[in-house]
Amino acid sequence: EGEIDFKEDAKFAQHLKKGEAVSDFAKSKTLAQQRQYLPIFSVREELLQVIRENQVVVVVGETGSGKTTQLTQYLHEDDYTSNGIVGCTQPRRVAAMSVAKRVSEEMETELGDKVGYAIRFEDVTGPNTVIKYMTDGVLLRETLKDSDLDKYRIIVMDEAHERSLSTDVLFGILKKVVARRRDFKLIVTSATLNAQKFSDFFGSVPIFHIPGRTFPVQIMYSKTPREDYVEAAVKQALTIHISSAPGDILIFMTGQDEIEATCHALSERMEQLATKKEIPKLLILPIYSQLPADLQAKIFQKAEYGARKCIVATNIAETSLTVDGIFYVIDTGYGKIKVYNPRMGMDALQVFPVSRAAADQRAGRAGRTGPGTCYRLYTESAYLNEMLPSPVPEIQRTNLGNVVLLLKSLKIDNLLDFDFMDPPPQENILNSMYQLWVLGALNNVGDLTDLGWKMVEFPLDPPLAKMLLIGEQLECINEVLTIVSMLSVPSVFFRPKDRAEESDAAREKFFVPESDHLTLLNVYQQWKANQYRGDWCNDHFLHVKGLRKAREVRSQLLDILKTLKIPLTSCGPDWDVVRKAICSAYFHNAARLKGVSEYVNCRNGMPCHLHPSSAICGLGYTPDYVVYHEFKYIDVGSQKEQKEEKTAMEKEMENLRKVKEKWQRVKKEKERMKRAKEQQRVSMPGLKPGCSTYLRPK
Ligand code: ADP
Ligand code: MG
Repeated sequence: EGEIDFKEDAKFAQHLKKGEAVSDFAKSKTLAQQRQYLPIFSVREELLQVIRENQVVVVVGETGSGKTTQLTQYLHEDDYTSNGIVGCTQPRRVAAMSVAKRVSEEMETELGDKVGYAIRFEDVTGPNTVIKYMTDGVLLRETLKDSDLDKYRIIVMDEAHERSLSTDVLFGILKKVVARRRDFKLIVTSATLNAQKFSDFFGSVPIFHIPGRTFPVQIMYSKTPREDYVEAAVKQALTIHISSAPGDILIFMTGQDEIEATCHALSERMEQLATKKEIPKLLILPIYSQLPADLQAKIFQKAEYGARKCIVATNIAETSLTVDGIFYVIDTGYGKIKVYNPRMGMDALQVFPVSRAAADQRAGRAGRTGPGTCYRLYTESAYLNEMLPSPVPEIQRTNLGNVVLLLKSLKIDNLLDFDFMDPPPQENILNSMYQLWVLGALNNVGDLTDLGWKMVEFPLDPPLAKMLLIGEQLECINEVLTIVSMLSVPSVFFRPKDRAEESDAAREKFFVPESDHLTLLNVYQQWKANQYRGDWCNDHFLHVKGLRKAREVRSQLLDILKTLKIPLTSCGPDWDVVRKAICSAYFHNAARLKGVSEYVNCRNGMPCHLHPSSAICGLGYTPDYVVYHEFKYIDVGSQKEQKEEKTAMEKEMENLRKVKEKWQRVKKEKERMKRAKEQQRVSMPGLKPGCSTYLRPK
């Protein structure tokens, strides 16, 4: 079979030489034939045999070898689904949705029937579902309800190399499930070679390698560092398009804004060029996680005859999604990762250079269907000397608030003892516990409070869950529920570049001048008053899809409130009390007015400004205090500011250290008093009656 496959490749390369569109290959093959062409197909029997013989198996294979789409189907075909279902976790929502769709097509079933998916606030599975794709976060929450995961016969932990926060926590939890349930199997898949670590963690389990089938990729480095990598990438893509052989292009950018800017610049330049001479079409396709699902699916679309595809992606295209036919990769060398920022007291997505392992993954995308080229927009020296060899696992760099809540509710009292593959720094655990204590979710000895137990029930960040529950106390939960739902979806305000002024004016009509949160509430309530109509949204520059999503989120949160028997109270038109609820959840993000328009964070003195799009700017005066939901860090980049930032960060760390020291002193003092009391009790019987008042503790 391997032989035939390689011949196919050769034939395919021939096609390319003749200048045929790359995706004609896919067109000419049925889905069943495409399945048999994948590398994993040639080892199907051996793989299933190893799985039959072992409870835990680690599977390693190049991206695109068929792990995600085929493994679940093989397990289904090998009859594991006759008693229980096959679950497959993905670190990314987009991947869970897109892969489930693909597999449902391959199995010729409706999505949500035999094959389904579940992501936060969206469950597309049914009574017939036997293969369920889901985000690792969803599975982690399922362990709260069913710690043995009884409905699953097998779990495939896919993309384990990504080392997402939830995957890392699941490792520890699933290890226990494996020990408790002999009928349960676990498969861990990884694209790269750190499989040994996974195998060791589960007790030296077998590692199965899927033979690779990749082509050489030529690496081209930039001679000098490129400041404006968007511009550099656009130029490179156009050069390839005009002067290189057929084959699609994949550009890696860091996020939505950059992707949009790149796509915009590309199409503009293409228009200009087209007026001068005849050039083939370029199909420009963005992909990032916030992009609506129907647009995401377009990256798999086939370009028309003679045209070339150019996909502009975040690191989602690094390993999670494989698009066939990519011959050119343009790598900016940057990516966004979530890091805990002690200055802001929360996680923030920040742009960082990617690791060498990630850069190699990116380059590898060009060598899937034939020999390819990767243009790195950075120097070889940067690759060798400035990039980390591999990425830092998320658990070691983000806020652990949610994880701590979750583990506490699973009765894991001493978090420092939990079986982590790579334990988070103790500092981070303590910081997160401190934040939960401030919110009232933990008591003085670090156990969950009643409020904390309720907070666990919501798939929300701790402050948002707290806002809801304070809404209960203040009897305005109906209003708070809407705000929380609106905050859980991407911004609903639509602001097309060519109609900026018009759309700004439309947005201002919704302003509740004292609050952006109340503005969101206002938008939702007006939409409701207009029968949730789509045309009404279009008229008012609102994203109807975003609002519909908010409505869905709202109804799911409402279901949770019902199961907790929390009644839906409303404060009617008096929204002041809603502001109290917001404040009680976000008081750690409070800022005080200093000077004319500058604010400083109340805890750490960090200067900040109101965002120009904020409703508060229309208030006519600047209020003395504000609390904020989001702090956008604007990277000005000057050395002086960087230095200031560094010292502010150090100050913040110093403050935290002091608070913790104080805590420890209080704790020690309490212990000392406790011991003193006990000693008194012990010595009391021997004392003369007259002395007892002197020693009796007050
Ligand atoms: P791996 O998990 O090993 O990286 P996958 O199972 O994701 O591999 O991919 C196997 C093949 O299926 C790839 O060639 C990919 O292009 C194809 N594929 C996956 N999802 C889709 C989709 N939504 N549409 C078209 N092809 C897809
Ligand atoms: Mg995969």
